[in-house]
Amino acid sequence: MSTPLTAPLTASLTGPLTAPLTGPPATPLATTLVASDLDRTLIYSSAALSLGMPDAQAPRLLCVEVHESKPLSYMTEDAAGLLERLADETVFVPTTTRTRKQYQRIQLPGAAPKYAICANGGHILVDGVTDREWHAKVVNRLAEECAPLSEIRAYLTATTDLSWVRKHRVAEDLFAYLVVERERLPAEWLGRFGEWAGERGWTVSLQGRKVYAVPKPLTKSAAVREVARRIGATLTLAAGDSLLDADLLMAADRAWRPGHGELAESEWTAPHLDVLAERGVAAGEEILRRFRAAAAR
Ligand SMILES: [Mg+2]
Repeated sequence: MSTPLTAPLTASLTGPLTAPLTGPPATPLATTLVASDLDRTLIYSSAALSLGMPDAQAPRLLCVEVHESKPLSYMTEDAAGLLERLADETVFVPTTTRTRKQYQRIQLPGAAPKYAICANGGHILVDGVTDREWHAKVVNRLAEECAPLSEIRAYLTATTDLSWVRKHRVAEDLFAYLVVERERLPAEWLGRFGEWAGERGWTVSLQGRKVYAVPKPLTKSAAVREVARRIGATLTLAAGDSLLDADLLMAADRAWRPGHGELAESEWTAPHLDVLAERGVAAGEEILRRFRAAAAR
């Protein structure tokens, strides 16, 4: 696919790679792209908050997602203020494994992001609308490089049972996940599935109550590279907590991960990665502080 991948807004005036897209404060020569995972990196369900302090000292929380009329995800009020400023100072790109629909019910503080990456890189939203060319390119690549989703689904149907699986889900026709009872999830099943899927070009990731199976070529980093190219980013910062974020963290110039999560459990690290001591919603706040400090240099 060699079609030119679009046209940042002012391409006709200033050439494709130099156009700052975030409005007046942007400096023409320095464009910082901040690509951050959302769940358990910037936003937290009540089960993932890890407040751990006396109730009277807990930070005030802002609910940023409602699902089926109930509050679902939060950030601290301080984090909300930091994100608002970050969104003015950089090109902030939410970078999530969520489907577009799951992403679109989140109401992040600050200006609406010009770009967002959903479905683990399967969709790039530009002003809220999916970029069809990007999506088509991803779909072609998956068809060539890994086993089809149907094969993964068949394995999941054949090897799991309702004593520990609550739901089988397919996300955006790109990947699959199970909602499980975490305490009852057989560890040996997870190990076997990981191995079996790995041989077929798929990654298995356990996050909270979800077991994801995602094609290896479906990456956040590929989509972030594409956005970086379009905006002419001169610096890329990233944060994430799970195995599906590892490639994103590797691809960035600087990266952070919280003290909790799948990567923390495996003590995953990289030379340009800072590991935060904070866990839970406090880590989200600290990540935003680090993003702003790094962008200001
Ligand atoms: Mg996450």
